[in-house]
Amino acid sequence: MKLSAAIVTLLLTSVCTATLTLYTHAELVGLSCKYSLAKTAKFCKDDALKSYDCYCRDINALGSFMYCGFSQLHSRKEYKQLGAFYQVRCPNITIEMMKDAYKNVTSYLVDTSKVQGYNASKVINYPVVYKKPSFTVAYDNYFARYSNYRYGVYMGAGFMGYWGIVLLCGTVVNILRKTSPNALLSINKGASNSKFIRWYRKNISIPALCRSSHTNRVFLSGLLPTRIESVIVLVFFVLALLCHSLGYMSVQPNFTYSSRSEELTRYVGDRSAALCLYLMVLTFLFGGRNQIFLFLTGWKLSTFLTYHKWLARMLMMSVLVHTITMVTTSIIRGIYDRRSGQEYWKWGILAVVVGSTMLIQGFSWLRERNYELFLYVHIGLAVLFLVGAWRHIEVFGYEYFAYASAALWCFSTFIRLVRLAGFGIKTAQVVVVSDETLQITVQANSWWPFFPGSFGYVHFITKSAFWQSHPFTIVKTEDGKLRFYVKIKNGVTKRLHKKLMNAPNKTGEIKIAVEGPYGDRIPIETYDQVLLYTGGNGIPGPYAYAKTLCEAKKKAKTKFVKLYWVIRNWSSLDWFLTELKALQKHDKIQAIVYVTRYHEGKVGEKFTISDSSSSNHSEDDKDSKAEVKEQVISIEWLSRIQNELPHVEFREGRPPMPEIIANDVEEAKGQNIAIMSCAHNHMCDEIRAIVANQVGDYKNGRIDLFEELQTW
Ligand SMILES: Cc1cc2nc3c(=O)[nH]c(=O)nc-3n(C[C@H](O)[C@H](O)[C@H](O)COP(=O)(O)OP(=O)(O)OC[C@H]3O[C@@H](n4cnc5c(N)ncnc54)[C@H](O)[C@@H]3O)c2cc1C
Repeated sequence: MKLSAAIVTLLLTSVCTATLTLYTHAELVGLSCKYSLAKTAKFCKDDALKSYDCYCRDINALGSFMYCGFSQLHSRKEYKQLGAFYQVRCPNITIEMMKDAYKNVTSYLVDTSKVQGYNASKVINYPVVYKKPSFTVAYDNYFARYSNYRYGVYMGAGFMGYWGIVLLCGTVVNILRKTSPNALLSINKGASNSKFIRWYRKNISIPALCRSSHTNRVFLSGLLPTRIESVIVLVFFVLALLCHSLGYMSVQPNFTYSSRSEELTRYVGDRSAALCLYLMVLTFLFGGRNQIFLFLTGWKLSTFLTYHKWLARMLMMSVLVHTITMVTTSIIRGIYDRRSGQEYWKWGILAVVVGSTMLIQGFSWLRERNYELFLYVHIGLAVLFLVGAWRHIEVFGYEYFAYASAALWCFSTFIRLVRLAGFGIKTAQVVVVSDETLQITVQANSWWPFFPGSFGYVHFITKSAFWQSHPFTIVKTEDGKLRFYVKIKNGVTKRLHKKLMNAPNKTGEIKIAVEGPYGDRIPIETYDQVLLYTGGNGIPGPYAYAKTLCEAKKKAKTKFVKLYWVIRNWSSLDWFLTELKALQKHDKIQAIVYVTRYHEGKVGEKFTISDSSSSNHSEDDKDSKAEVKEQVISIEWLSRIQNELPHVEFREGRPPMPEIIANDVEEAKGQNIAIMSCAHNHMCDEIRAIVANQVGDYKNGRIDLFEELQTW
């Protein structure tokens, strides 16, 4: 299914390419013969350079054309191509008629250069020999112009090839990771012994682009790719730049363009038009939530969205080059007014305006402030862009590229609907815990394919949010239900929180549908040591892995798991208490919790209420403790927490990540280590930078970083 979808994607682009007009040598000869004959003779009153009407009914015109064509071509294949060329223009002329015309014409051909007082503008009734010099000029002109189209198509196919290779590498690694994880790990371990590989991983494949900002937002809330993503984008950018700039041929004198600069300007416009078509398909392909390469490569959606954004930027640069060059040549040729009044031109302008708006509208700063507004405006604009592009290119017969882009988008949406329908609409239990997290629990069908690290888009079926879907990591509870730990932010989560604040026990029911599962399962059980660094609401994913590892027992190679969790206040323990307790029965896991505001003593209800019950307070009193209590942490509280969670080590303050990771790696010296991070953006970026450094010096074993945090 997945492979066939990938093949369909490739086929879509191939079909598009096949619909582009790429003139063969025989067709260029056909065009040049027509030009040369138009300069030599007039066969009918209405005979004109750009019209074939006369050639479809006049035997002398047909014979002269065939003589020209056959004397310039030398193989059966080319003769056939010439025949097809003619039939496209004159469907009433059969191949037999062409052959007969050629056979008969030789006896009647007239060389007009030998006719005294010959007047080329007067209608004649005999076949003529074409003028070789004008044929050569025409052929060179057409060749320069149409080979530019050909190069554009080849280069566009090269774009696809580039991404094909990038995606193929990802797919091969992913298939190996899924089918033979142990073999892949030992290959990687062997490779890590090489100084060059360690250097490459330290400096290219692991770190963020510059300093340590990847998931953390920088200028205008923008996100920087990792260094390897940047290399992939940069190489493609250079490729695109070269494809836009190289391989132009200028032929002067030129019967179409008055000057070399006009000619080259037009060629740049034509080339960029062809390249835009491929960039458009790639942009739409990578923007989908369900595009097939997500599954084949196992890469994060955020990685594909990074490529989507950069491809979109390159697409719009190319569109602008196309627009500027076409407007310029139209003005130079004095046909701007005529062209700009045409439908296809107006649709093109719409696509340019909408596409440029999308570049600004897609800015992270706006996305950060109101994601849903960004998303729906983005979708609306993308539809407009696609319609504009479609109507603009359909007059040239390139509409299949718009169809391919639309098909990829529709496929993604269709799969989303299938996933949603598969889950159905279910009633979920929502509890507000510690005033910071919504615990959403729902019973899924038993066949629903949960896996550690998976996430789902939760659609809240409420009047005020039914159009929204928010991604949350999934944890499976002991009784097989799905649970989301949702941090209360400022959008739908805040509204839900507000609603539940007045409900008994801050608990309520809500209809939800879950679209998923998304994400990729990492075969973490193949590593000797697993280090999980988490913070706040980032714990569910790594926790699900930790639990699976512990439950896998002998099936997992992993000898030891360390789970770090950084929380601000003690009260955060409340919403993950059951899960933390569940780790007690497993001896190969060490859980360490850092409480950054250790001494503020903000303890959650789960510990304070048990205190009040011990002092015989009524049930109502317990309920009245709706607010999380602020109190100075005392030895008593600490020991109560420690009693409940004896297997968890509590540390105060911020975790000194460089020291922690260095010690953990040192302890596991020579073994294969999986490091997983899912925490606050700063912490994830810091971990990435530290791991990159560690990897550079780590011999005789392999360290792999799996960053579960996704931001887009
Ligand atoms: C793969 C993935 C897994 C996640 N898992 C969890 C989790 O387990 N627990 C958790 O608390 N949070 C998780 N998040 C973050 C969570 O999706 C957002 O916090 C949530 O959507 C915010 O909803 P809101 O309307 O209250 O946000 P707002 O206050 O409106 O926005 C807060 C932030 O969330 C971003 N955001 C809002 N809606 C979306 C959306 N639909 N898609 C992506 N980003 C959005 C905004 O750009 C903004 O940066 C995850 C995000 C991703 C991408």
